[in-house]
Amino acid sequence: MAGYKTIGGANIDILSSKRAVIALGANLGDAQATLRDAMAAVQEISGLRLVRASRLYRSEPAHLEGQPEFVNAVMLVELDAGLDPYVLLAQLQAVERRFGRLRHEHWGPRTLDLDIIDIEGVRSDDELLRLPHLYALQRDFVVTPLQEVAPGYLFADGRRLKADDVVYGKVIGVESGEPDVRA
Ligand code: AMP
Repeated sequence: MAGYKTIGGANIDILSSKRAVIALGANLGDAQATLRDAMAAVQEISGLRLVRASRLYRSEPAHLEGQPEFVNAVMLVELDAGLDPYVLLAQLQAVERRFGRLRHEHWGPRTLDLDIIDIEGVRSDDELLRLPHLYALQRDFVVTPLQEVAPGYLFADGRRLKADDVVYGKVIGVESGEPDVRA
């Protein structure tokens, strides 16, 4: 019998493993090194396995101008059925803190930002954890790397990944080399 749990008013199946997408961004310090090390740290989260990591992309700051360019990437992962989305969020926030996240303004510079973009079959309107992520399809720095690892990705709310809706955070380059996730 399927096991269900309520999150943000929706019933979710807690017995099957799920695909999920995590986005990473940084624009202070050695942002490339931070992203590579953060990818390794994310893979240490219990119940999470990497399916594919994107290359590192350089992007224009979204929302707030006059700050350094960002380095961004996404990870396509598989989550064990028992990994609660809020526990995953807390683990990602712990990784952010580990990398000494500094942030003084909303949308301003930060050493590391980790967002859950989507979890298969999970929709949530809770402001602590909105799924799919509110701005995912508007951000080129999410859409472009996600096209690389999962072309035409289907979100939990039925939307399909496409470049047309992009408004912010234009990708301006790719860092050379294959993904180095230092697992
Ligand atoms: P920011 O670091 O500026 O992207 O926002 C962090 C805040 O967004 C935290 O308080 C989270 O609880 C909240 N949040 C809501 N939805 C999400 C999501 N899908 N992924 C990560 N943080 C989220």
